[in-house]
Amino acid sequence: MHVETLQRLFPAAKLNEPLKRYTAWKIGGPADALLEPSSVEELMEAVEIARKHDVSVTILGGGTNVLILDGGIRGLTIRLARALTNSRITGTSVIADAGVLYPVLANMTAARGLAGFEFATGIPGTVGGAVYMNAGAYEAETREILRYADVYKPESGRIERLSNVELELSYRRSVLHDHPGWIVLRTTYDLRPGDPQELKARIKEFRARRMNGSPNRPSCGSTFKRPKDDFPGRVIEAAGLKGTRIGQIEISHVHANYFINHGGGSSEDALKLIELARKTVRAKLDIELEIEVQVLGDP
Ligand SMILES: Cc1cc2nc3c(=O)[nH]c(=O)nc-3n(C[C@H](O)[C@H](O)[C@H](O)COP(=O)(O)OP(=O)(O)OC[C@H]3O[C@@H](n4cnc5c(N)ncnc54)[C@H](O)[C@@H]3O)c2cc1C
Repeated sequence: MHVETLQRLFPAAKLNEPLKRYTAWKIGGPADALLEPSSVEELMEAVEIARKHDVSVTILGGGTNVLILDGGIRGLTIRLARALTNSRITGTSVIADAGVLYPVLANMTAARGLAGFEFATGIPGTVGGAVYMNAGAYEAETREILRYADVYKPESGRIERLSNVELELSYRRSVLHDHPGWIVLRTTYDLRPGDPQELKARIKEFRARRMNGSPNRPSCGSTFKRPKDDFPGRVIEAAGLKGTRIGQIEISHVHANYFINHGGGSSEDALKLIELARKTVRAKLDIELEIEVQVLGDP
């Protein structure tokens, strides 16, 4: 679709916008059109227009679990990390819009004496991405605290409330993987009363563990999911792959499941390194690695 047409359909969108600046890995070609809606109404209107004109829609949260290919993303990309960022606490419940960052919720709830969100302190993405991925850490995950999510279903034009069970949350997966058009707008979590000082101390401890155990360089966090009864970092290291580098992408010496970008890395190199790791681990250890990071866009 012509740039002029996209500009006419989505006047608030940025055209031909490089997406690497919106991803934790600092990789990704341009979005034909990038929109950061300031309200649910604006988001729904844009999606409706896109549907009418056959423009494909891609949702980005914080861009912390995506590999956007160098060719970029066709059609309309809607980014929610800077939009839809309201949250509030009522009793032991937290209601948060899709664009609220998980570390913000971890801090906010701990300070208010609500327990259950501490695990989220080092997960840099948004509420929407966390529901999509059932994000978790330190033996806790989103599924344990999420009561429901309000989800926009463009095919019916309606917002529906999906319960925890209906969201089918499992290890780094949700029902949203089967419905690429659905958009998480808002969520409600149920927490427990706790002591603010203890909760803050837990968060501090989790942060320290992360600082020591992962590289402070651009990456997508965990590249691979956990294989059965094992850890991807351990098996990649056991296969002798730590420090292996293709172009600007390198398997970190600090944690082998982190593939770091030294600057200007391409999606092609990232994919080559991912494939090399899978092949080597398969050949040497007979273990099949499955990627966790979500691949979006055109090669
Ligand atoms: C340094 C680092 C550490 C990390 N540590 C952890 C960790 O400990 N545990 C963990 O689970 N993950 C971790 N991650 C991965 C990542 O932060 C999580 O998966 C996070 O939940 C992704 O959220 P996001 O908003 O960045 O989603 P994005 O990366 O923007 O998107 C991920 C997927 O979700 C979809 N999506 C995003 N928002 C919505 C929405 N509103 N509606 C529908 N679909 C949506 C996107 O289309 C995409 O398919 C880490 C990443 C980094 C960079």
